[in-house]
Amino acid sequence: MDPSPLFYQAGPALPEISHAQGVYLWDETGKQYLDGCSGAIACNLGHGRNDIRDAMLAQLDRVAFTYRTQFENAPAVALAQALVALTHHHLEKVFFVSSGSEAVESALKLARQYFVARGEPQRRRFVSLRPSYHGSTLGALGVTGYEPLEAPFRDIAIGSLKVAGPDFYRHDDADDSRHVARVLADTRAAIEAAGPDTIAAFVLEPVGGASTGARMLDQTYLEGIRTLCDETGCLLILDEVLTGIGRTGAWFAYQHYGVTPDLLATAKGLGAGYYPVGAVLSRADIVETVMASGGFQHGHTYAGNPLACATGLAVIEAMQRERVLDNVSARGRELKEGLLALKARFPWVGDVRGLGLLWGVELVADADSKAPFPAEQNRFALITVLAKEEGLLIYPRRTLDGVAGDHFLVTPPLTIDAAGI
Ligand code: PLP
Repeated sequence: MDPSPLFYQAGPALPEISHAQGVYLWDETGKQYLDGCSGAIACNLGHGRNDIRDAMLAQLDRVAFTYRTQFENAPAVALAQALVALTHHHLEKVFFVSSGSEAVESALKLARQYFVARGEPQRRRFVSLRPSYHGSTLGALGVTGYEPLEAPFRDIAIGSLKVAGPDFYRHDDADDSRHVARVLADTRAAIEAAGPDTIAAFVLEPVGGASTGARMLDQTYLEGIRTLCDETGCLLILDEVLTGIGRTGAWFAYQHYGVTPDLLATAKGLGAGYYPVGAVLSRADIVETVMASGGFQHGHTYAGNPLACATGLAVIEAMQRERVLDNVSARGRELKEGLLALKARFPWVGDVRGLGLLWGVELVADADSKAPFPAEQNRFALITVLAKEEGLLIYPRRTLDGVAGDHFLVTPPLTIDAAGI
């Protein structure tokens, strides 16, 4: 047989999945895998759900695709209303896209156009964290702080002012609160030096994802960044592509902290692996300003098509009907306990951190010094291969810029039961 023309990644051929149900997948040899990472933290309701399939089929039977400038789209309106309600109407306007990168890209462009419309065209820069991940398109990559992905494109991506966020595992400040105060002071100084009136927005994941191994922020830090944005006159964009739609036990992770963004990007769990759908949620006045200036100069062909939105709506309705957020909290506590037991048992489990059903495990060569394993040992890849051999899927990364080392995410479907945990 000819080799596959696909070039997603180097490495040996992968097994093919023949079918999946709930939190399990089976490959063609009959081997069973527990989906401990929801694919790419997307398949949040598990596999093979009849309710989602039925909603999609019903929409397919009516119409799969209509274009947003030609026809009203009832599933899109209903999904937008549902999302606005999930923010308790803090964010009142919705723009649909088909991926997380598109959601972040759209939020960046909306922020930029808002300031152009307001007569502040000098606000064209963004601030973001290193490490961070915001997507693979040039704008979203530009605000991403993840060296291996940035390197080939640094000269052509828009770029951003990269600042450090808090690191509660490795800091050497006297205590956590002094650490947060120092990080905020450094961030303020970096923005002062760059010119506060050149900044359009601060982009932030409220809980880190794959690039940081679920590194946590905290209430004081998020409140500090909100204040800094207000004083700087820039917008706060929260990237909830991974954390949104229940992953952390709240509909959106910011709701744990009571710090409200001006714009929010979400995707992954919204389509729950059944169909690509993402969204940008915005403060109403931002959108009104942009629309009054002639409209948002942006859009993607497939954005918010009826099938995508019917899928997203079915996902949210299923989560409400089944009280999935309660399950996330209960299973999250059990998962935390289990991972901490690993930490107690194995000296190479350095840190366990997370929220809801988003957990990161950092691997270290030495628990006392917290020294990472040498990069060439590829521990993050090794542990993923070993886990897969045992029938468990986890989501690995290594941060190469010296800030963190090997880690993996444990992010099972939000519907997992206690036995699965
Ligand atoms: N933002 C965050 C926080 C993510 O985790 C991801 C994907 O992993 C993205 C953006 C990009 O989303 P997508 O891969 O759907 O383009």
